[in-house]
Amino acid sequence: ITGERQMRTFKKSSKLDNVLYDVRGPVVDEAARMEESGTQILKLNIGNPAPFGFRTPDEVIYDMRQQLTECEGYSHAQGLFSARKAIMQYAQLKGIPNIAIEDIYTGNGVSELINICMSALLDNGDEILIPSPDYPLWTACATLAGGKAVHYICDEQSEWYPDIEDIRRKITDRTKAIVIINPNNPTGALYPKEVLQKIVDVAREHQLIIFSDEIYDRLVMDEEEHISIASLAPDLFCITFSGLSKSHMIAGFRIGWMILSGNKKAAKDYIEGLKMLSNMRLCSNVPAQSIVQTALGGHQSVRGYIEPGGRIREQRDYIYKALTDIPGISAVKPKAAFYIFPKIDVKKFNITDDEQFALDLLRDKKILLIHGGGFNWEQPDHFRVVYLPRIEVLKEAMGKIADFFSYYKQQ
Ligand code: PLP
Repeated sequence: ITGERQMRTFKKSSKLDNVLYDVRGPVVDEAARMEESGTQILKLNIGNPAPFGFRTPDEVIYDMRQQLTECEGYSHAQGLFSARKAIMQYAQLKGIPNIAIEDIYTGNGVSELINICMSALLDNGDEILIPSPDYPLWTACATLAGGKAVHYICDEQSEWYPDIEDIRRKITDRTKAIVIINPNNPTGALYPKEVLQKIVDVAREHQLIIFSDEIYDRLVMDEEEHISIASLAPDLFCITFSGLSKSHMIAGFRIGWMILSGNKKAAKDYIEGLKMLSNMRLCSNVPAQSIVQTALGGHQSVRGYIEPGGRIREQRDYIYKALTDIPGISAVKPKAAFYIFPKIDVKKFNITDDEQFALDLLRDKKILLIHGGGFNWEQPDHFRVVYLPRIEVLKEAMGKIADFFSYYKQQ
């Protein structure tokens, strides 16, 4: 009698058991619930420039419009020739050695390529060094692939640079690779040559693959120069990632790329795996590929945002001062991207659970930001602020945050 049959339920795969992706997790869910019931939330939680009035350069839009009717079919699995050629030339200008067109892969954002790289590399239990704090997609994809994400510390006392001794301590026989995020999300750090050189030395000593996420490489402030670590490691196998989501304010178009460089012989088999997974998704969004050449080669109107007087730069200066003026909050001034990762004096505020802190701030002040734990930071003493909103909006937010800290949990 069919009516009495038990309903079959469907559980998610156990592969997801240890996967954490809090950037879109419980605090964000609570904010969505509040919004549904009519509460307006100020969102300082996601690095998506367009909603904050950052505009894509006109020429990029014009270019896409012109080419749209020719982008109806699939492209080569790794991407259009014009896009890959432009990416290759860009990479050559950055000194990345030993690259040809076949070493460039476009993706539906860097996100897709991170997933492909982790899936193609990691066997169950293989270890990969990932920074803490991190952009959590790296840890999530490594874990989903069956690998073990081993977190090395980035040191707030040293401008948030990777702690080389900690990296050394955490290398085992199963360590296959190291990930760096430079410029960094969530800290806004930019690594100088000496630091990169030390990472290369460790990678060389232990024959590790280097994955370098450089999606913010064109959002560097204070006239500093971004150095691609691959340019220092011609004898190692490196994969460098970048894209247009952030530098050209087109996160929604979904276009990113990766560049294979250095010792490709050592990675011959792995590269076959990358090719297979790249073929399996057919190709990345073709209209978005069609504008890469213009975006990388043309007049870079987005640069204005990071030059003196530019919006991102002014907002950076404002948020740094406003946050560090709050008693009990300290921060390293970001040099790149559009994030800051301040430290909370947890003793003063009696904080033991940073997710709870983010929820309390959300409920009290209607401000959404992500707690440090969302970036695989173990101590409950940090949070990330996205400083993309205009200064007027940031001022209002900072007034509320300062007020929150004036009473939060203090006896
Ligand atoms: N890598 C880092 C460090 C990021 O911050 C982001 C987005 O926030 C991405 C990768 C993903 O970018 P996309 O998939 O839009 O190219």
